[in-house]
Amino acid sequence: MATTREASQAAREAKLDELHERLTGAVEQLVSGEDWARALAFAARLRARSFSNTLLIWAQHQGAYEAGRVPEPMPTYVAGYRQWQALGRQVEKGQSGYQILAPVTGRFASSNPADAETWRRLGKSEKPRSGEVVRSKMITVKPAYVWDASQTSGQPIPEPPAPTLLEGESPTGLWDGLADHVRAQGFAVLRVPHEGMIHGANGVTDYTAKTVAVRENMDPAAQVKTLAHELGHVLLHGPDSDEARQHRGIGEVEAESVALMIGAAHGMDTSGYTIPYVSTWAVRVDGKEPGEIVKATGERVRKTALLILDRLDTAQVTDGAPPGLNRDAPHREETSRKQPSHEAPERRVTPLPEPETRTVTASATQARAL
Ligand SMILES: [Zn+2]
Repeated sequence: MATTREASQAAREAKLDELHERLTGAVEQLVSGEDWARALAFAARLRARSFSNTLLIWAQHQGAYEAGRVPEPMPTYVAGYRQWQALGRQVEKGQSGYQILAPVTGRFASSNPADAETWRRLGKSEKPRSGEVVRSKMITVKPAYVWDASQTSGQPIPEPPAPTLLEGESPTGLWDGLADHVRAQGFAVLRVPHEGMIHGANGVTDYTAKTVAVRENMDPAAQVKTLAHELGHVLLHGPDSDEARQHRGIGEVEAESVALMIGAAHGMDTSGYTIPYVSTWAVRVDGKEPGEIVKATGERVRKTALLILDRLDTAQVTDGAPPGLNRDAPHREETSRKQPSHEAPERRVTPLPEPETRTVTASATQARAL
């Protein structure tokens, strides 16, 4: 007879299987459809979460909308059960949460970080020895739940001003912020009068001359979009980058997708972005399934877009986390508080295709949350 512990372990694994299946379904739809640009625009609105989780939320929110359980086709803010409580709001009776994959992290310590053999896993409340470096590392994933703001009630959510743009207008400060980032990578930003000077293109990145050129005979929105596209190339596609990816056109997909997410995060109209059909670039190669390529590309794009957005001093639309949520509050690895069994508290960690490591010094560990 199975123990309670074994039974709950089995239940968790069954849930995980179900969740992975759901994700595969969402990804397969992307592979066969024309929804890549829409998925990216959606991911930009929930960019605090992994690309896979945005797909899961998208699919489940659509279902809830079609069933009449939520009023809007797009979620606004999503957060975990306890996060909503911390903001003075309660999940309404009868509203089921959206299942996502939450990373489970462990702490590892070593006095000689360069030597992989010396890393040891720390126990729950175990402190590192003096001089040891501590790293948090994702070890596995578990199912967790989040709810859209419309499924909760309580204290009002402050509405941050949403940037509004006229057609063809560029968001204030965006060109300068992107140009600074390009220059910080060691590239000069050139503005050329027309496409005849750059092989008929809107923009060109020259890795040898270390220049990024953008033509000036377009409206400001198109110019800033082009600059974001070229910055995507600068950050992702140097001469040392994977040539096979470039060859299959994934480089262009990635650069344009980064630009789309940057634009969407600033409330720009992203309908004019030109991204080839997923079926033309997410093709089976080196034993990798199209679905895997879609997920990996989406996550790579999202991380690059986040890196760019974090450096900008511009008015951006919400990233999907409710205003006022304290993401950096100290947080113990596991809480001993009793939790409702189906409501895993959400952790603000970014799940990645590969386990992410981050290094902190031993003295800083206790206060540091993920
Ligand atoms: Zn390009």
